[in-house]
Amino acid sequence: MTTPVYENFINGHFLKNQTGDTFAVKNPATDEVIYHVEIADEFIQNAAIESAKQGFAAWSAMTPIERSRILLKAVAILRERNDELAKVEVLDTGKPWQEAECVDVETGADVIEYFAGLAPAQVGQQQMVGNDFYYTRKEPLGICAGIGAWNYPLQIACWKSGPALAAGNAVIFKPSEETPLGAIKLAEIFIEAGVPAGVFNVVQGAAEVGQWLTANPNIEKVSFTGEVGTGKKVMASAAGSLKDVTMELGGKSPLLVFDDADVSQAVSAAMLGNFYTQGEICTNCTRIYVHKNVYQQFIDELKTRTEQNIIAGDPMDPEVNLGALISKKHQELVLGYIDKGIQEGATLLTGGKALSPASAPSGYFVEPTVFVDCKDDMTIVKEEIFGPVMSVLVFDDEDDVIQRANDTHLGLAAGVFTKDIQRAHRVIHQLQAGICWINSYGNSPAEMPVGGYKQSGIGRENGIETLDHYTQTKSIYVGMSNIESPF
Ligand code: NAD
Repeated sequence: MTTPVYENFINGHFLKNQTGDTFAVKNPATDEVIYHVEIADEFIQNAAIESAKQGFAAWSAMTPIERSRILLKAVAILRERNDELAKVEVLDTGKPWQEAECVDVETGADVIEYFAGLAPAQVGQQQMVGNDFYYTRKEPLGICAGIGAWNYPLQIACWKSGPALAAGNAVIFKPSEETPLGAIKLAEIFIEAGVPAGVFNVVQGAAEVGQWLTANPNIEKVSFTGEVGTGKKVMASAAGSLKDVTMELGGKSPLLVFDDADVSQAVSAAMLGNFYTQGEICTNCTRIYVHKNVYQQFIDELKTRTEQNIIAGDPMDPEVNLGALISKKHQELVLGYIDKGIQEGATLLTGGKALSPASAPSGYFVEPTVFVDCKDDMTIVKEEIFGPVMSVLVFDDEDDVIQRANDTHLGLAAGVFTKDIQRAHRVIHQLQAGICWINSYGNSPAEMPVGGYKQSGIGRENGIETLDHYTQTKSIYVGMSNIESPF
């Protein structure tokens, strides 16, 4: 059976490359190639820039309310096609259908809807200075590049294009080479909704295509989601033409469970924050610090629920709640971390091996894994694993656990479970992280800004402030009287 070949999406339609070079995309749950994608060669790259220039001219000339109306049509189409798009995400990522069906498309659509609503409300300032005055205009930046990771491909494309397009920019988006189809579907939906050709273009390929985007002088901004190390390269390259950057990078986030917490709720949060999307979520609470008084109760319940309630298998089966990791290479990386955890003296509470479920025997599965007896300096406690691997640690003292939780170069997220309202806020205010939860974990509504402290990121996505990151302020001084000049 021949598999489809997808071309790059430029100027409102698919465009064939000249080299004929392609790459293959596999379904992580079956290890089978499901389609091929053409790589954006020089011809495509030049066409993308020309297309985005034309798209920008047309789109930025529209009023915000016209742009908003069109984007809201795209939102309606995204929601109508929820199941078709969710299936694309399941086949590309290996994540469970039961998640994609209610999260991936929905949270992407929410963000476009949110920024479509905000766009017409964005205003400049006006101020008198004597008899003269100045006013400011919020102008779009021009062509913005988006570079995505593979864990939430469609959602990331929506989160980057929503504010960028609402503010009047054109976008050239490069999805991860592991999961390229969701962005193409979004491009088609934008065209169907009435977004002018050239406003949202999709270029395909791996690091080389990303590097071209970050170095290209016609591009004003790069919004990047991926690993810390890649983020540093992207930022260094963007500096060559002083591009604005947004960086959504990795994490090693702590969850603090105090002895007055609802322990079952804390176990739910720990499981969600480690096993949802088979652990491939940037904000995961992979370091769980549990107060010594509730430690035994916590790990007993965690072990029972992890062993009884997790169903791995064909991700399209609605009963399945643990999918396959993105690739064989990533599965090996995660298993390598598990070996390291054992070598360095952590105790496996449960899991620890590759899985081969009957309904998806060739998939890249890893058992939900919990380590106890962990120490702060162990590799599994320090490095982002990006798989279903949780490290549980014990604490006794509030100040001490805050210091331990903050002892990392990352600062994406953090959580606290306690019924003491004062402690909850006191502790969370001291944690060095951009996205925090009290008695909750993982929710990320469109209204709430998200982004990292320290090396977990720069700038924010979602929330009102993000629109400012896609505009530049023009100040205009207006003289109302004759100029006084010594010349
Ligand atoms: P990655 O850094 O390997 O790749 C991300 C993207 O960058 C891909 O599209 C890739 O092709 C591209 N790329 C690679 N090298 C490049 C270069 N030199 N220049 C430009 N582009 C380049 O990350 P990944 O493995 O796809 O994703 C997993 C990582 O993403 C994890 O670290 C995770 O924490 C992070 N992540 C962060 C967030 C967040 O919002 N903070 C969200 C999702 C994922």
